[in-house]
Amino acid sequence: MVANGTAIHLLMRILLVEDDPMIGASVREGLRQDGFTVDWIRDGVAAEAALAAETYDMMLLDLGLPRLPGDALLERLRARSSALPVIILTARDAVDDRIAGLDAGADDYLVKPFDLDELAARIRAVARRRGGRAAPRLRHGEIELDPASRSVTLRGEPVSVSPREFALLTALLERPGVVLSRAQLEQRLYGWGEEVESNTVEVYVHGLRRKLGAGLIRNVRGVGYMVPKA
Ligand code: CA
Repeated sequence: MVANGTAIHLLMRILLVEDDPMIGASVREGLRQDGFTVDWIRDGVAAEAALAAETYDMMLLDLGLPRLPGDALLERLRARSSALPVIILTARDAVDDRIAGLDAGADDYLVKPFDLDELAARIRAVARRRGGRAAPRLRHGEIELDPASRSVTLRGEPVSVSPREFALLTALLERPGVVLSRAQLEQRLYGWGEEVESNTVEVYVHGLRRKLGAGLIRNVRGVGYMVPKA
């Protein structure tokens, strides 16, 4: 996928709330292949717990859910003044549900069964409407990272980095001088239940050092990694 807006979604962490095992599995796999990070939750109460524990960029919300229906979850979310973008996934015959969902504060809805490419396009459209993450540029010495365009430059020259290298670099540059553990970094790179390859953090650190300079990322033995304060 190289369409306009690709840059927006590469860092997006999405909460997928869907109790249908086949739909949930296919949406999760499809979006992961597109570079999104996806946590899949199967009921409304667990979704509330996930929302309290993690920071998400968007929620994909089925309405017919065990324990707490999607519209009630959404109403509670908006009652707490959460601005989390929400796309409702709803059955074809549930027109009233759709209207109720939009009234309750959803940004968009999609009727099942839907095409995964269309879902990705809707996600990008909602993210664009919301202005994406208004994250500021990060600078460190001669390195500059722009979350909006997902670009990295060294002395003003573009440097090509993979989505996961970019995510790792973002995590480190957001907190210069702070040591982040391997577990903390893996959490930025992978969704729940996604298989974490061994040595994966080391591989991305190696790639970033090669591209941006050996001294950029320090390994604090037995603790983790940090970018020293510039
Ligand atoms: Ca359902």
